[in-house]
Amino acid sequence: MACKVAYDLPVEEHRVYVETIGGGGVDLPGGKWPNLHMKWKPVFTDKCLNCRGAASTDYVPYCAYNCTTEALTVGDVNDPESAISKEMDRLRGMGYAISELPAWQGMRAGVYYAEKEL
Ligand code: SF4
Repeated sequence: MACKVAYDLPVEEHRVYVETIGGGGVDLPGGKWPNLHMKWKPVFTDKCLNCRGAASTDYVPYCAYNCTTEALTVGDVNDPESAISKEMDRLRGMGYAISELPAWQGMRAGVYYAEKEL
């Protein structure tokens, strides 16, 4: 929503959207009660500008700056002192696997995901 408002995007245009991984629909869990599971994956499209520095805080794009759960971290993965490198180290220490999905089906490259099997 922050991206759409900041760039005054038309209703049908999304530079990032959130995909539900679970029961095959938006916010539908998979599995059977009581063993339900569900994850959310932000998918950055190839329309995403990777707009570092565009928000009011340096080097934080609107989507990450306005994420209330701090689910998005932005930075240079090649700089060990960057926020994203430190966050990746922290998550690896908690048992998360970090992976980069290949740019396909309209997705933007350079997006890393942290995932932990439940
Ligand atoms: S990086 Fe910029 S263009 Fe891309 S989704 Fe975030 S706010 Fe939108």
